[in-house]
Amino acid sequence: MQIHLSEIIDSEGKVIQITPELELDTISFQLGEYPILDKTPVKLTIANTGNKVLELTGNGSVTVGIPCDRCLEQVSVEISYSIERKLDMKQSDEDRVEDLDENDYLTGIDLDVDRLVYLEVLMNWPLKVLCRENCKGICSQCGKNLNQGPCGCAEEPKDPRMAAISDIFSKFKEV
Ligand SMILES: [Zn+2]
Ligand SMILES: [Zn+2]
Repeated sequence: MQIHLSEIIDSEGKVIQITPELELDTISFQLGEYPILDKTPVKLTIANTGNKVLELTGNGSVTVGIPCDRCLEQVSVEISYSIERKLDMKQSDEDRVEDLDENDYLTGIDLDVDRLVYLEVLMNWPLKVLCRENCKGICSQCGKNLNQGPCGCAEEPKDPRMAAISDIFSKFKEV
């Protein structure tokens, strides 16, 4: 949802509270594309603190479907975020790009709430997702989900250190 900020930019001291609905229904970035299964409206406060500076504060949460790191079953993960940003409306879009600020949720005086929430969700993305603490993962030979019971493959020597190592690798790939 786009919010047109013209009304508040020229009213020093003005504070508005809105709860826009998110249109966002997937989160995609270099690791993949993840469906948003549930979401709360964003509670957003925009305050004009003077000198054409707007302060954005707010919070909300989205529930995202993310595959378990071990067995790849989709897990519903609730990601809460809080928003705390200052927008200097004296800057042009070009100035912002030069500042290397990732303010691409602001175009002119239009605030893109979905883009803003997207960035916040990425910052709060979980490092590790497991469907359960003791997920058994999938069989490396036949691919069966071992949480649903053993497969017929020859028993491999179990080494709990291997699970720990693969968790470390999955952590590295997200850095
Ligand atoms: Zn799992
Ligand atoms: Zn197997």
